[in-house]
Amino acid sequence: MTPAARDRRLFARVAGARDDLVSLTQDLIRIPTVNPPGDAYTECCEAIGHRLARRGFAVEYQRARGGVGDSDRYPRSNVICRIEGKRPGPCVHFNSHIDVVSPGQGWTVDPFAAEIRDGRIYGRGTCDMKGGLAASMIAVEALLAEWPDFPGAIEISGTVDEETGGYAGVAWLAERGYFSKPRVDYVIIPEPLHKDCVCLGHRGVWWSEIEVKGRIAHGSMPFLGVSAIRGAGAFLDKVERELYPKLNRRRTAMPVIPEGARSSTLNFNSIHGGLAEGNDGFPSALVAESCRIVLDRRYLIEEDPDEVRREIVDLLEAVRRDRPEFRYEMRDLWSVGPVMTDADSPLVRALDRAIGAVLGHESRHIASPGTYDQKHVQRVGHLKDCVAYGPGILDLAHQPDEYVGIEDMVQSAQVMAAATAALLAGEAGGA
Ligand SMILES: [Zn+2]
Repeated sequence: MTPAARDRRLFARVAGARDDLVSLTQDLIRIPTVNPPGDAYTECCEAIGHRLARRGFAVEYQRARGGVGDSDRYPRSNVICRIEGKRPGPCVHFNSHIDVVSPGQGWTVDPFAAEIRDGRIYGRGTCDMKGGLAASMIAVEALLAEWPDFPGAIEISGTVDEETGGYAGVAWLAERGYFSKPRVDYVIIPEPLHKDCVCLGHRGVWWSEIEVKGRIAHGSMPFLGVSAIRGAGAFLDKVERELYPKLNRRRTAMPVIPEGARSSTLNFNSIHGGLAEGNDGFPSALVAESCRIVLDRRYLIEEDPDEVRREIVDLLEAVRRDRPEFRYEMRDLWSVGPVMTDADSPLVRALDRAIGAVLGHESRHIASPGTYDQKHVQRVGHLKDCVAYGPGILDLAHQPDEYVGIEDMVQSAQVMAAATAALLAGEAGGA
C-alpha cells in the first residue's frame, strides 16, 4: 500500500469514529481532574487504561509516591500504555496531561457536563487538553485497525500536574526512563496549539521572590523607620523606566505566538507589603518592615539566563546606591530554560506532511509563550524529538466556557494517525 493510500484509509477510519471521539472526550471531561488539589487522577487514568487495554495495550499505572503533591488523599497517578508492533521500529509516544485548572467564575454551562452546542464540546479541559488526548487515542486506534502489522511501538500516556509544573507527572516518569531512548523515539504532546500548527518549543521562565526589608516605626513618625514599601516602589519605578523599554525591544527568532510574546516579558505576580489588614481593612499604624514581590520573567532563547537574573540584581543595586537604607533579599523560585526542537526533525516533517494532506495547506511552525511538559522530555529525558501538536485554540485554555471544536478534533486525529504511520514506516527520515 502506498503512503497516500494508507493515509486515505486512516482518514476515513478516523472520520468514521467521530461519535466515538465525541463520547470519549465527554467521558474524560466528566471526570473532574481539577488541579490543585489533584482530584480524580486515578479514576481518569483507569478510564484511559481500561479502554486501551481492550485494544491490546500493556497498561502500567505509576503513582509518583513521595513526589511533589502526592498523598493518599490526592495520589499522583499516571498511566502509560504501550503496544508493540510486529517488527522492530521506532516508538511514537503521545503524552497528555490529565489535570485541568479550576473552572473559576463566569461559566454559562456546567463546566463538567461536556455539553455539545454548534459542533463544539464545552467544559473545563475540553481544549486544554482532554480533546487532544481523546484525538490521539482515536488516531492510534484507527492506525491499529488499518495496519495491524505495524512496526515499532506506540505509547499513550496520561500524566498529572502539568498545570503546576509536572513534577509528579512527566518529570517523575522522565527521571525513570519513560521519556528516553531506546524506549521512546518521538513524543507528541497534544496541547491546544491549533490544528494546523506544530509547536517546536517554548520561551524560558524565571520566577524570583524579592523581599525588600525596612525598619518598623510608628506610622505617625515614619522618619524614625525605613519603609519597605517605599523601597519596593523605587525598585518598581526603575523597572518601569529602565527595564521594560529594553525588554520590549528584544525580539526572538523563535516563532512564538501570539506576536506580543516574541519579546521578552516581565510580570509582577504579586506584591505584599506591611502588616496584614484586620477584618475591618484597617491595618496598624506602622512603617512597613517588609515588602515581598514575586516576579515572572519570560525570556528568549537568545538571552543568557545569568544575564536575565543579573539585570534585576543590577537594578536593585542601583536603588541601593540611591537609597543607602535600602536592603533586600532575593530568592529564585523556579526556572526553566527555553527549548526548541529542530524544524527538520523527522517528527516535524511527518506532522507537516500530514497537516498538508488533511487540511490542504501548509503547516505553521510556532513556539509557545509559556512552558509545558516538553521541558521535562528534553531536559530530563534528553529526547530532542518532542513537539506539541493538538486541536483546540490556545486562547481558550483556562477561560470560562472553554470548548473544543469537534471537526478540529477529527482533523487533528487524522493528522496524528498519518504522522504516526509515516514515523513508524521511517518515511520521514531515520530516528
Ligand atoms: Zn495544557
